[in-house]
Amino acid sequence: MTDQKIASAATVFADRFYMSDKALDQLSMLGGYACADAADAAGLAEKIGGSPSVKVIVSEYIPINDVVLSRARDLKGVIAYGAGYNHIDVEAMKHSGIKACNCRGENAESVAELAFGLMLGLLRRIPKADPWVRAGEWEKAGMVLPGWANGRELWKKTLGVIGLGQIGARVVRIAKGFDMTVLGYDPFMKPEACRSLGVEPVSLTDLLSRSDVLTIHVPLSPETHNMLDSNALAGVKPGMILVNTSRGRVIDEKALIDALQSGQVGGAALDVFAAEPLAKDHPLSRMDNVVLTPHLGALTLEAGDRLSDSVVRQVKAILEGKQPEGLII
Ligand code: NAD
Repeated sequence: MTDQKIASAATVFADRFYMSDKALDQLSMLGGYACADAADAAGLAEKIGGSPSVKVIVSEYIPINDVVLSRARDLKGVIAYGAGYNHIDVEAMKHSGIKACNCRGENAESVAELAFGLMLGLLRRIPKADPWVRAGEWEKAGMVLPGWANGRELWKKTLGVIGLGQIGARVVRIAKGFDMTVLGYDPFMKPEACRSLGVEPVSLTDLLSRSDVLTIHVPLSPETHNMLDSNALAGVKPGMILVNTSRGRVIDEKALIDALQSGQVGGAALDVFAAEPLAKDHPLSRMDNVVLTPHLGALTLEAGDRLSDSVVRQVKAILEGKQPEGLII
């Protein structure tokens, strides 16, 4: 049976994510909205229950696949709340006339800034130092600090960037502030376009063997799944620092853990994981040369407001039969 609120809403939020008050007011004027707060695709499908009022579904993580599409009878569009859309079955929508969209670029600045936050956190031991001071360990130790407090600089190091899209390009811009040499691998970008960003275009093998710090900004796809496997990690510059704010399954986690244990990878700072949320007893949670954040790359007030505005613009375009700005197909 269709959820009562959903039965009269043009836009349904599959899961819970931030929408600004201004955006919600605007959606109220565009046929109304309802939050399904579903746990999975089957739960969402059940709540939609064939309602003809539902024209647009917005989803951050809930898979939008055949199960959902079969219960949304008059659906016109699906919007991925964010840049990543690996949870949206774009193929299933290809010949249906349903528009699949994402909010590309709206959270790019936030993710790029986090990438540097993670690099600095790891290299300067910030997550380790803070609880150490709070626990009174500094008072006990005096001014001669333990060895772990001795960090590393980013200045003039070589940064490898995999994926030079919205986020990757912003990472490059910030890296220039640290006087870093930037290598880039993105087979979909012309070498001249890379160079115009100030990036030396290289092969993946070259990038891995030359980078002091590697940061990943590709979508999850069949090509990028386990892109960094044991073979790739065997070819990195020994002690390289790895930062991943893209999708967890771009890295073979087991291979990464082995490389961190052997020292082949010197440290990893990760916002995304193969399975989320990360379990407390996951091996990564017990490693000292690792910094972990809970997939919060896009979570800033500023990005939230931009994403909200983008959702409203795209809902409006979809309802009016126009081309939404983030159209994927
Ligand atoms: P984008 O589409 O603008 O850029 C992706 C880039 O990756 C493109 O330039 C593309 O050519 C390149 N690429 C694709 N396949 C590749 C491959 N096999 N090898 C190398 N490069 C390849 O996307 P974006 O906005 O920069 O976001 C990138 C990814 O970051 C998203 O798909 C999403 O999964 C992730 N993301 C994570 C968070 C977070 O909260 N941690 C937030 C936003 C985005």
